Amino acid sequence: MKKVLAPVLLVILCATACTGGDKAGGKPKIGVAIYKFDDTFMSYTRNAIEENGKGKAAIEVVDSQNAQPVQNDQIDAFLSKQMDAIAVNPVDRTAAAAIIENARAKNTPVVFFNREPLPEDMNRWDRVYYVGAKAEESGTMQGEIVAEYWKAHPEADKNKDGILQYIMLKGEPGHQDAELRTEYSIKAVRAAGIRVERLAEDTAMWDRPRAVEKMDAFYARFGDRIEVVFCNNDDMALGAIESLRKAGYFSNNRYLPVVGVDATAPALQALAEGTLLGTVLNDAQNQGKATFDLTYALASGAGADSTTWPVTDGKYIWVSYQKVTKDNYRQFQ
Ligand code: BGC
Ligand code: CA
Repeated sequence: MKKVLAPVLLVILCATACTGGDKAGGKPKIGVAIYKFDDTFMSYTRNAIEENGKGKAAIEVVDSQNAQPVQNDQIDAFLSKQMDAIAVNPVDRTAAAAIIENARAKNTPVVFFNREPLPEDMNRWDRVYYVGAKAEESGTMQGEIVAEYWKAHPEADKNKDGILQYIMLKGEPGHQDAELRTEYSIKAVRAAGIRVERLAEDTAMWDRPRAVEKMDAFYARFGDRIEVVFCNNDDMALGAIESLRKAGYFSNNRYLPVVGVDATAPALQALAEGTLLGTVLNDAQNQGKATFDLTYALASGAGADSTTWPVTDGKYIWVSYQKVTKDNYRQFQ
């Protein structure tokens, strides 16, 4: 009995393990789900993933349309197609647990990116990874840009009370980048010895048109009492600038410092024009490359340590942020 079974078992095992499943023309199959295509920063990351994957892997990228149930169905479809690995930009980062359990049931490794699952979820399985950037770092850099400006420009304290009155435009509540940028930007301003007063804080959901609306309302309420506008990303910063322009800023020597994060092409343009005070490079090129490299390594069975990216705590790849101001923006264009 044993003698007959052993070779049969070997063949069965080899059919799945040795080839890593049913590959498309010998190339590993990778499924990528993006929380929504209509997000400026995610479109950069998506392009970088696709560029890096050209010729190496059969990549299927889907738009989860900002709906977790849609994304769950897409992931189920990836798993039933026996993708060799999947990369997921979750709609709701607290939905990671269910995604991980489904992937584990099919033994399909998962790389999350840009929206960081909670540590307890990351620890559910050893074939779960995250590629992203340390949200605190971007907040700190943003705060440092503002602090430096404030100290060099006494006229920025318009009411001369020695306190920096600010507006905070937040990204999507619950997103690590929204929560931590909001917190750490102000911490950095305080750490520079500057007193602050928050006039108002509200979410504009990472979105430019919503930021215009919010800023219109804030300006109607606080007018020229506003001294600085912090925005969790560049799309919202550009929306705030658009609104403030209507209120007469950015011409006839009327200026108001606005900061963002991402260093998108239109934000670099705004830096060149002298409207945006500063931003922080959220490195979509390298985040996309690291996401692809890691997913590809897992899909081809090479293991997470086979890439050139340092892996922290066995599951995290961190890409650094960089401050971008009028002094260095050209190198990012
Ligand atoms: C970016 C935002 C983007 C969000 C999407 C953040 O890291 O800064 O621009 O909308 O990710 O999850
Ligand atoms: Ca003041």
